[in-house]
This record gives sequence, structure tokens and C-alpha cells, in this order.
Amino acid sequence: MGAMNLTSYSLKQHAGKRQKMIEEHVIDRGIKDMRVIEVMRRLPRHLFVKDSLGHKAYGDHPLPIGEGQTISQPYIVAAMSEALQLQGEERVLEIGTGSGYQTAVLAELAAQVFTIERVKSLSQHAKVLLDGLGYTNINFKIFDGTYGWRDRGPYDCLVVTAAAPHVPRVLVEQVKDGGRIVAPVGGAENQELVVLTRHGSQVRQRRLSLCNFVPLIGKYGWPEEE
Ligand code: SAM
Repeated sequence: MGAMNLTSYSLKQHAGKRQKMIEEHVIDRGIKDMRVIEVMRRLPRHLFVKDSLGHKAYGDHPLPIGEGQTISQPYIVAAMSEALQLQGEERVLEIGTGSGYQTAVLAELAAQVFTIERVKSLSQHAKVLLDGLGYTNINFKIFDGTYGWRDRGPYDCLVVTAAAPHVPRVLVEQVKDGGRIVAPVGGAENQELVVLTRHGSQVRQRRLSLCNFVPLIGKYGWPEEE
């Protein structure tokens, strides 16, 4: 599992807002996994956005991170992480590194995280930040994540942090039998967060909540705009 390398200054900054975020947007909205709650209570989310947005980092909303992309709303990060039911020994594939915030949460909850981002500058920024925070269990790749990362699989769990009309079959194939996938699925404007559980060639699907994600762009997602 990861190791947060934080000064007492970065922990004290926005500590009150972080506590309020946990109580109002995580626990009061039904998140029960104490490992998820404790990681998000400690992790300084303001480090994952621009300094000028640090005071908004604990609000109940996504925030821009540049390149037209966003850091996901705290509740959504908590709900996705809880749905994976991580115990600490898993290998997790994440599609869409973004700011690296969800990546850090996963790195605290699982053994190894493999994270793919299509936007080079976002991946590089997240890597510098997460390396600086002391994480040694995160593997970064800059590529179209709709292909997955087959040569490092299979994975116990997979999380997709951008939305597509359906979860690409090629990703389902990279999850172990019994493994879980959490992904936003639907149209360009609104989607549902779904949890898929693989049972051999069969996939069981459960709906978690409505959501609104940026598009998953790539070979098995939405086409790139000209
Ligand atoms: N969980 C992230 C966080 O906390 O910052 C949020 C990520 S943001 C909502 C979705 C990310 O998916 C964006 O950074 C976007 O560039 C990336 N993305 C979209 N399509 C992708 C693809 N085919 N492969 C990899 N990353 C992709």
C-alpha cells in the first residue's frame, strides 16, 4: 500500500474543510467503508488542484484540472472506491489518471495501481505529485486506456473515470474471474455509475447512482473531436 509523505503544514491546511467534506459528502451520503473514509479524511485533496482553487477542493463538485478535464466530485471518488471492495492485496487498473487524486486513494487501498491517461501533461503532472508524496506502488502509462494494459494484467479490479456508452469488452477481458469494474456508462451528458462483476464469460451489472463525467475518448470510447 502507498505511503503519504506529507508535511504537517499540508495536513493542517484546509483540515476543517476536509473533515466537513467527509461528514457531509461522504458519510452522510451513505459511504460505509471505513478504509475509504479514513484515506479520504487524511489525503490533502487541495494538492491535486491549482493553488488558486485550493479553497474549493473540498466542495461537493468536480473542479477543472486543465486540458478540459476535471478532478471528480469527492462523493463520486468515495462511491467508486467503495464499490471495488478493496482489502489491500489487489492489483487495480485505472483508466483516466486525471489529477491523480483517485489514483492516490486506490494506492492507499490496494497493493498495486496501474493508471492510464491519454493526456500527456496530466499524466506527467500526476506522476510528479504522487512520486513526491512517496507512492511507490503506482505504475503510469500515457496511452488510449480503452485498450487497457493487457501485459500487466489480469487485474482484480478496474475503474474507469471517464464515460462511454458501454464498458469496452476488451477491458472486461482484463479482469480476473470474480473481479469488479466500476464505470460511468451512458450518453454524453448524463450517465449511470455501474458496477460490473465478471463471472467467467458472464457479467453481472448493478447500478450505483446517476453521474456526469467527461467523455472516455479513444478506440473503444467516443471518437476524438476534429
Ligand atoms: N479520477 C480523476 C481525478 O480524480 O482527477 C478524474 C479523471 S477525469 C474525470 C477523466 C480523465 O480520463 C481525464 O483526465 C481524461 O483525459 C481521461 N481520459 C479520457 N479518455 C481516456 C482514455 N481513452 N484513456 C485514458 N484516459 C482517458
